[in-house]
Amino acid sequence: MQNITVLSGGMGGARFLQGLLHGVTTGRLPGVADDARVTVVANTADDLWVHGLKVCPDLDTVMYTLGDGIDPERGWGRRDETWSTKDELAAYGVEPTWFGLGDRDIATHLVRTQMLDAGYPLSQVTEALCRRWLAPVFGAGVTLLPMTDDRVETHVAIADPDSPSGRRVVHFQEYWVRLRAQVPAEAVVVVGLDDATPGPGVIDAITDADLVVLPPSNPVVSVGTILGVPRVREALVATQAPVVGLSPIVGGTHVRGMAEQMLTSIGVEVSAAGVGLHYGARSAGGVLDGWLVDEVDADQVERVTGGGLPCRAVPLMMTDVDATAAMAAAAIELVAR
Ligand code: GDP
Ligand code: CA
Repeated sequence: MQNITVLSGGMGGARFLQGLLHGVTTGRLPGVADDARVTVVANTADDLWVHGLKVCPDLDTVMYTLGDGIDPERGWGRRDETWSTKDELAAYGVEPTWFGLGDRDIATHLVRTQMLDAGYPLSQVTEALCRRWLAPVFGAGVTLLPMTDDRVETHVAIADPDSPSGRRVVHFQEYWVRLRAQVPAEAVVVVGLDDATPGPGVIDAITDADLVVLPPSNPVVSVGTILGVPRVREALVATQAPVVGLSPIVGGTHVRGMAEQMLTSIGVEVSAAGVGLHYGARSAGGVLDGWLVDEVDADQVERVTGGGLPCRAVPLMMTDVDATAAMAAAAIELVAR
């Protein structure tokens, strides 16, 4: 295998990619060349404009993580970060105060916003940013592609007794960062998704891949939005490459984040089997040829295979790059032909 394509959100996807790349370079992935190329199609539906800056949380988390610029404790933003700009903005009483923009991180958003203002599409901006973060480490081995150059935004409907409709809609980041996903999500609406065009290279990355991986990313607001970009799902259904996924749900809940709230809002059972069957077997109109669940969910394997989807239970906790590389190897073994 020479070309691996991964459909990624932020933290879960980025950590998986670290392990996958570790597996590639150490030659530990069965049938995968040690100079295999990895293309990341990243979710952009979490993107937002804040203080006049375009912020792309999932693109940046992948870029900083793979480029070793991430803050490892927080899992987002830059390491050795300072917060003077945020403090100064708060001193002016400027909203929003809940979104964390670190001083180092702001430089990325300034470069991105200036390039967008000058007319460059997000894909070219991302390529420019990756010249700093990815090229020195991986050469041409890793390509990061936004799922679309178009503006797409996930919004979440929450209960609001003060509103005439009884509901209020907030940007996904407000739901996650300000409200900490602690109020029930009544619905998820992805504004602009139906009219979005896949970013340059996205469809080819799926069509020409030797393997496509759905990492343990959020099935609704990360992978779900990528699959919702017109023609992406069709490309997955049609590709010659095996498509394999790893469960972000372990023991009936997410490991980090708010996948549980998001799955509940779209009526999908919050379990490893529930997510696998939600994606579905390609042989039954879905997108997957294989699904990995964690060992603690071994009792769900039969239900998944009963749905026509090959499934195995293996350790799925991304504790370090070795454990994560082993997950990638197990995923490849499951769908190897
Ligand atoms: P986000 O954009 O930062 O929310 O990141 P992603 O969508 O890429 O990933 C979030 C998902 O990763 C969550 O649903 C978590 O349950 C999952 N996740 C995080 N760490 C682990 C882990 O160690 N193992 C597994 N199986 N899933 C994980
Ligand atoms: Ca995200």
